[in-house]
Amino acid sequence: MKKRFGIDIDGTITHPNSLIPYINEAFQLQLTLDDIIEYELTNVIDVPPKEFYDWFIKSEPKIYTESPLAPGAKEVLSKWKEQFQLYFISARSSNLMEVTENWFTQNDLLYHHIELIGSHHKVDAARKYNVDLFMEDKHDNAVMIHEELNIPVILFDTPYNRLPIPDGVIRVKNWEEAEAWVNHWIHNEN
Ligand SMILES: [Mg+2]
Repeated sequence: MKKRFGIDIDGTITHPNSLIPYINEAFQLQLTLDDIIEYELTNVIDVPPKEFYDWFIKSEPKIYTESPLAPGAKEVLSKWKEQFQLYFISARSSNLMEVTENWFTQNDLLYHHIELIGSHHKVDAARKYNVDLFMEDKHDNAVMIHEELNIPVILFDTPYNRLPIPDGVIRVKNWEEAEAWVNHWIHNEN
């Protein structure tokens, strides 16, 4: 039985920088990733939340169409596509499915399933699909999925997720480290 991985999309397989150029252009800012020290962007940028969210909803299709991959993601996911089941579970809204599927196709990435849940409540989706491992960039999601489902969760390090983590949430700097951890984990399980 192949192990099933639940994998977040934004900031995990896409570059965590993806949004920043669009935000800078729309609101005349000069942010870099190091400025984004909280996941909730309206806590770190000086734009009224309603204005920001109206802009964000309108801009999502363009941003998600053009999002660059995280370094190493494609190489590792290509190696994994035969060995594991890749279930991409995202907080994006379901109306973005076509944009999302097209992005996978354009980037030549294989998926076994894409679930757009339209909220950050990923525990239920991860439970429903019975994933063996999860990969995330959102700190509270990572901790919650680990604690509720008692599975390992790989947390991709970014300036906005540097809070303490329990054993069972594994912080990695990049996809090479994620791959090394998974190889070690699979080896120990066998
Ligand atoms: Mg994410």
